[in-house]
Parts: sequence; C-alpha cells; structure tokens
Amino acid sequence: MSFAALRAHQARVIACESCPRLRRHCRAVAADPPRRHAGDVYWARPVPGFGDPGARIVLVGLAPGAHGSNRTGRMFTGDASGDFLYPALHRAGLASQPRATSRDDGLTLRGCWITAAARCAPPGNKPAPAELERCRAWLERELALLPDVRVLLAIGRIGHDAVLRIWGERLTRWPFAHGAVHRVPGRPALVDSYHVSRQNTNTGKLTAEMFDGVVARAVELAGPETTPPSRSPRASSGSSRAASRPRTT
Ligand code: SF4
Repeated sequence: MSFAALRAHQARVIACESCPRLRRHCRAVAADPPRRHAGDVYWARPVPGFGDPGARIVLVGLAPGAHGSNRTGRMFTGDASGDFLYPALHRAGLASQPRATSRDDGLTLRGCWITAAARCAPPGNKPAPAELERCRAWLERELALLPDVRVLLAIGRIGHDAVLRIWGERLTRWPFAHGAVHRVPGRPALVDSYHVSRQNTNTGKLTAEMFDGVVARAVELAGPETTPPSRSPRASSGSSRAASRPRTT
C-alpha cells in the first residue's frame, strides 16, 4: 500500500472537472439547499474514496447523494443511505462507530474502503453512461492502489457493473443479484447487495438483516487479516480511533 499515492489520488479526484453536467449540478444543489440544510457549507466537489489503505473489503456504491456526501464530502455521510450503511459496518466491526454525520465526526474504517462508480452527485441519482465511463478510470486507479483487497462489495447494480467493466468482463456472464458471490478467475470475489438507498430500505426491499448477511459473507470471504492495522488517509476522516476487529471465520 502507498499512503502517499492514495492521498495524491484523492486530491486528483477532488479536483476533477471532467463531467460538466455533474459539476454544475453539484454546485447548483449547494447554492440552493433545502430548508433542513440551510446555512450548511456544501462540499460540492467530487467525493474521494476513503477508509483503511490495508482494506480487504472495498464497497463500491453508485454516486454521492445531493444532500449527503455532496454536502459533507465523505462517502455515504449525512443522509439516509449512510444511516443504514454505517450501523451495519459497525456491527460487523468494520467501522469505529455507527454514526456518520460529517468528515470530522471521528468515524474510521478498519479493513474496509468505501468508494463509488461516480464521484459527483448526478441529477436524479442517474449518471450518464459517458460520465460513468469517465469516472471508472478513477475507480480503476484507486483499486490498483489497494493491493490487499480480497472482496469487492457492490452496493447496487451500478457499482457491480463498474467493477465488471474494469475487469473487462461481460455483464451478462455475471448478472447482478442481491447476495450473489461472483468468482471471476484471478480477481477478488465480487459480492452483490441491493443499494442502501431509502427507496430500498423504506420499502423493505433491503432490510438490516439482509444487509448484515451480505456484509458477513464479505467478511468471511475476506479471510483473516494479513496486514497490520492502518490509519485512514487524513482527508478521509478526522480521528485515529480504530474500530474493533472485523469478524472473520
Ligand atoms: S463524476 Fe468522476 S469523472 Fe466526472 S467530474 Fe466527477 S470525479 Fe470527474
């Protein structure tokens, strides 16, 4: 792992302006927040991945939420998706706390990294294919900087597709399905989950028990920890408090 390389990568992502439509949307959302976020200073830039540079599990989501990570500057932080995701990671020993409200809330990840298929909040939560393709280059580079990864946990179909495209695999050969484990030869295991969006969690399409099961499977596939504990790059969180050890079987 290279701390410096990951930090440099994060800095390049944050400065990216390759998708004019998405960059405009992120800024427009920040300029006209809903009443519940009135007065908040929005991040409004591309959101970098964050977590443990020695991660064995990488979560690949869709894209920042307009008033979640586009506001706070950290993946899945400050909205309903994070309110569902981080308690599950905490229960599994991958996160130091269940609460994720801001970049300096003290949260750290252990054995885990969180990233996304697109780094800028898209209108309607739907990045265009060309935008996903552009951002995939960032994801590919990021994964190359995380040499201990054994499991990629796709949080939704878009994350699943992004991983398979990076690997040059046909999507039809490895169809997305909640709970599926894809064993692409020579690659980390790819585990699928429905997205943790409120649309899924409020309707019961994805329950906490279902998600716990998928996370537990990812932890099991990741196997025993082989590298010493690592601190997250400073850009990713504000505390060095470590989470409890991941459950391994
Ligand atoms: S979505 Fe990705 S490629 Fe497009 S501007 Fe944002 S960071 Fe850059």
